[in-house]
Amino acid sequence: MSKNPNWTRDELILALAQFFHAGRKQLDANHPEVIQLSKLLNRLPIHSTETRNADFRNAQGVSMKLGNFLSIDPHYKGKGLKRGGKLDREVWNEFANDIEKLKLTAASISKSVSWVAETRAEYNAISDDDEFLEGKILTRLHQRKERNRKAVEQKKKKVLQETGTLECEACGFDFFKVYGKIGYGFAECHHTVPISELVADHKTRLSDLVILCANCHRMIHKSRPMLAVQELRAIIESNRQ
Ligand SMILES: [Zn+2]
Ligand SMILES: [Zn+2]
Repeated sequence: MSKNPNWTRDELILALAQFFHAGRKQLDANHPEVIQLSKLLNRLPIHSTETRNADFRNAQGVSMKLGNFLSIDPHYKGKGLKRGGKLDREVWNEFANDIEKLKLTAASISKSVSWVAETRAEYNAISDDDEFLEGKILTRLHQRKERNRKAVEQKKKKVLQETGTLECEACGFDFFKVYGKIGYGFAECHHTVPISELVADHKTRLSDLVILCANCHRMIHKSRPMLAVQELRAIIESNRQ
């Protein structure tokens, strides 16, 4: 039998949040919170069912992951625990000194699960071609908000009415100017609420959306956390000769 898929960022964030919630302890496999987390991890559509073994993220596995975090914890003086992997340490380094952010992000991920279940068919196997710097679940949620046709149409209409164009708010690119008729009314909308703070029931306000060209939109998502539009604009300015 092949190995279960490696833990991803979203899963590790949930486990690390539980580790701190438990007072930096490795709870054992019978603990109700471990069992609950195991169930949650099994509901996340991050790994397709074909790649999962029967013991995928079972309570034993979750408890072991907490042990990996305990071995990373500098407060821990014991020995004999299996060291966690590279990504475990990355997630640890990112969140161990910011428990508030950890809690918020973990809550966003778990609150998105019911939304995820509803739209499961839409992205049953999340492909690895895209980049998911901020984790698969929340990045998907972000993309879904941006593809909310009604909000996007309203935003574009409003901007067109007010400014007469759909220029990229970062670089000024105008699809209509460059491509003519086929570019008319074309632009991407980017949702500016920080991904780690986004929850499924967040109602998109038009002011949450900004108009971007496709290139700038990709660039904004190249950092974690994603850049603010002003930050990208400043980068563009500083690179202009
Ligand atoms: Zn642009
Ligand atoms: Zn975006």
